[in-house]
Amino acid sequence: MANIFRNIPSVNELLESPQLKKIVESVNHQVVVDGVRTFIDDLKETINNTTDDIEIPSPAEMADKIADWLHVEQREYLRPVINGTGIILHTGLGRAPLAKSAIAATMQIAGGYASVEVDLANGQRGQRVKAVEKLLCELTGAEAAVVVNNNAAATMIALASVASGKEVIVSRGQLIEIGGSYRLPDVMECSGCKLKEVGTTNKTHAADYSSAIGEETGAILKVHPSNFEVVGFTKTVSTKELVKIAHANDLPMIDDVGSGALIDFAKFGLSNEPVVRDSIQAGADIVLFSGDKLIGGPQCGIIIGKRKYIDQVLENPLMRAMRVDKMTLAALAATLRLYRKQETAEQEVPILRMLSMPEANLKLRAEKVIQQIQGGSWLASCEVTQSQSMLGGGSLPTQKIPTWCVMISPQGSSVNRIAERLRASNPAIIGRVQKDKLLIDMRTVFPEQDMVLVELLQALDGQDSAQQPS
Ligand SMILES: *Cc1c(COP(=O)(O)O)cnc(C)c1O
Repeated sequence: MANIFRNIPSVNELLESPQLKKIVESVNHQVVVDGVRTFIDDLKETINNTTDDIEIPSPAEMADKIADWLHVEQREYLRPVINGTGIILHTGLGRAPLAKSAIAATMQIAGGYASVEVDLANGQRGQRVKAVEKLLCELTGAEAAVVVNNNAAATMIALASVASGKEVIVSRGQLIEIGGSYRLPDVMECSGCKLKEVGTTNKTHAADYSSAIGEETGAILKVHPSNFEVVGFTKTVSTKELVKIAHANDLPMIDDVGSGALIDFAKFGLSNEPVVRDSIQAGADIVLFSGDKLIGGPQCGIIIGKRKYIDQVLENPLMRAMRVDKMTLAALAATLRLYRKQETAEQEVPILRMLSMPEANLKLRAEKVIQQIQGGSWLASCEVTQSQSMLGGGSLPTQKIPTWCVMISPQGSSVNRIAERLRASNPAIIGRVQKDKLLIDMRTVFPEQDMVLVELLQALDGQDSAQQPS
């Protein structure tokens, strides 16, 4: 055993190898030294834990392995992904991809200085929300607007600004959890408000709200149940009715509409998504929604409504903790500008384009991909299949969108191993594993990515499928 250890090259010997010397040129010397040490330690541990004969690689082979391993270790954690999951607003993949004009605006602002809090008309101090407020008001009919980090932040700061220390009335049918980390009761507690539940899971009546109002009440909150549906005998109270009840008692009515549809999504075959303008029209005092769901913009939370309440939000010290940066403002402004004409938005906003992509088109693209990868030695078979895309991002889970996928059955390695190798490619590819098949849903793949997708799939052919040292 001791003899074997003597055959392992020294750290210094390995550092002299051309492969590792080259890496030292681009990264810190210490990083490479640590990498070499870790690799040697792992090797020694493997030797200690096995009864098999282990052949110690030559110093050159070892240097190669360490260089490969360092290469993997040094790779960015955040990398571009080709989304083959069919989930259009995939929170794990960053939700909405931005429109070209939003990307251009962000790039232009990112590398320099910008009039974030300077009013260029008079040189005085300005408010950062001015970059988007006018557009938001124009598109929704609201009096005023403000933007924070996301809708969770929007909910928290809105409640803390208008109803801190007071009770906020919510229907038991609307106490939602979204994506595990967002639970309305918890957000409410953080905002310093007391949750006052009314009604039942399936039915809440106007009288339930009215009779819950008392000295302690600070607001009425309505929440769109974005990610579930109650069917059967149900009753909810409309925004308009809630506004009536709230105003009769001098209370603000807050409407969390969630996805923030600026246009009617019924034309994309998706019903039940509240349109922001309708909520303002119904008289809601504060309306809350995300920027990176159905708007297709950057991550942010948008708060619109009556001037009086928006000013209270702006004055809240939490505002400083939740404010958005210049890149978010630039991307949001550019995205909103597209909605000034619905046809423009439909053509330019990627998620709207994905939603309206005809099935025949998706099928054709899937067939083309298959033509080019067929015959690969890693493939048992490969065919087009009809499936269903989803909106995702906690939106409309029950509404499925018909789509076409490339369906791959691998041979020689498991479907999970293929999925793993595709995640390691650059850009990474993430599909949908369904039993022993890998599906790539063409709806969420950009047409301009089809060639890259083909090349990366072709590259699996003949590629050494041996495990990377880990
Ligand atoms: C998605 C959603 C949220 C959370 O929004 P984030 O922007 O992810 O913080 C809150 N409320 C509703 C109704 C939602 O749909």
